[in-house]
Amino acid sequence: MERILVSSCLLGRPVRYDGAGKPVAGALFEGWRAAGRLVPFCPEVGGGLPVPRPPAEIVGGDGTAVLDGTARVLTDNGQDVTEAFLRGARLALDTAHRSGARIAILKEGSPSCGSHRIYDGTFSGRSTAGDGVTAALLEREGLHVFSENDLPAVAALLANLES
Ligand code: SF4
Repeated sequence: MERILVSSCLLGRPVRYDGAGKPVAGALFEGWRAAGRLVPFCPEVGGGLPVPRPPAEIVGGDGTAVLDGTARVLTDNGQDVTEAFLRGARLALDTAHRSGARIAILKEGSPSCGSHRIYDGTFSGRSTAGDGVTAALLEREGLHVFSENDLPAVAALLANLES
């Protein structure tokens, strides 16, 4: 059975910067949860950041640029948390490898987990195209990375991988 690495907040765990979760509803997700496919992980907490914590955004690029050393992750009060984000991304990759997960469903918009959009680094609520640090590393290492908005595509890939 294919396992799926999942952002912990999508399972309702209260790990977000504001102490909340972002649970996903729906039959597909519930079915995967009930089957034991889902492997929860929060890169920011795994990387050593507390709950709650100051909001952070990538400044100077996206998660790929952070991996390449050309962008940084800063909090809204200017603290550089890049190393914690990189540590969390590496631990997410370790977790995927240990569990055998080749697929990840990550929370859209997060500076760690976003796979299509992230906030633009100005802390003004504007988003831009790009990926978060963990999403970028997992994609670079060959995982299939999706957001919570892509569940039918995940189902199609599962059917293909398990046929
Ligand atoms: S780092 Fe990812 S898993 Fe953790 S709270 Fe943010 S979006 Fe959710």
